[in-house]
Amino acid sequence: MSSKRQLLELRVETIRSIAHGVFILSFKHNFHFTAGQIIAVDIIPDGKPRLYSIASGENEENMEILFDEKKEGKLTPFLSKLHPGDAIYVSEPFGTFRTYTDPGYWIASGTGVAPFVSMARSGFGKNKILIHGGKADENFYYSELLESIMPQQLIRCSSQQEDTKYYKGRLTQWLKDQKDLPTAYQYYLCGSAEMVVEVRDILISRGIPFQNIISETYF
Ligand SMILES: Cc1cc2nc3c(=O)[nH]c(=O)nc-3n(C[C@H](O)[C@H](O)[C@H](O)COP(=O)(O)OP(=O)(O)OC[C@H]3O[C@@H](n4cnc5c(N)ncnc54)[C@H](O)[C@@H]3O)c2cc1C
Repeated sequence: MSSKRQLLELRVETIRSIAHGVFILSFKHNFHFTAGQIIAVDIIPDGKPRLYSIASGENEENMEILFDEKKEGKLTPFLSKLHPGDAIYVSEPFGTFRTYTDPGYWIASGTGVAPFVSMARSGFGKNKILIHGGKADENFYYSELLESIMPQQLIRCSSQQEDTKYYKGRLTQWLKDQKDLPTAYQYYLCGSAEMVVEVRDILISRGIPFQNIISETYF
């Protein structure tokens, strides 16, 4: 997607593959941001940058993004081949997705876990439960970090790995299995449009007020 935002030239600090076709890229920055916000990123100064959720914490020296490579994509096949010291072009953080202090569920599919990782790293995980859906156990990105911050509040739903260590099934099934989904909680959704719509419908059918459902859609 295109963006007219001004991009700053920064240097890649690290890039590492954490699962098949999935990468974490980091760079030094001087931005102030609120956990949940996004940045526009490109490898050229005047192209068509793509949007990425910030995955690092508000007070961390390096900013991180988590992305999966789309084989036919315009940006990610090049992003994944960057090396430390290479230039990247990054906008100031923006966006209104954020978490509040009320109890809530964070619900993510795939790389949609990124803003919740940022929120957890920024100290907002205390009264939240994170439900993360992925195809296989390797797709529970940042698991180790999340286990260290909110070990009792993690639910991982593995849709395709038969011998998963976690809940076997899609996160939508996990939600449907629950007898009780508190109607006073906030429900934060992040991931593909398909997931966001399906989860929203389940929540509404279970009596969750529309205003308690806050979503960020990746497209
Ligand atoms: C608010 C927001 C936050 C986001 N945060 C993240 C994040 O944290 N992590 C993340 O991984 N992604 C995130 N995304 C998605 C990200 O912005 C990119 O869309 C994604 O990385 C793909 O970029 P790309 O340039 O590689 O692929 P694109 O060139 O955009 O292509 C995407 C897919 O569409 C297909 N495609 C492209 N053009 C056509 C066409 N003409 N006809 C048919 N199919 C086509 C490609 O084959 C590819 O599979 C976010 C999106 C939004 C809106």
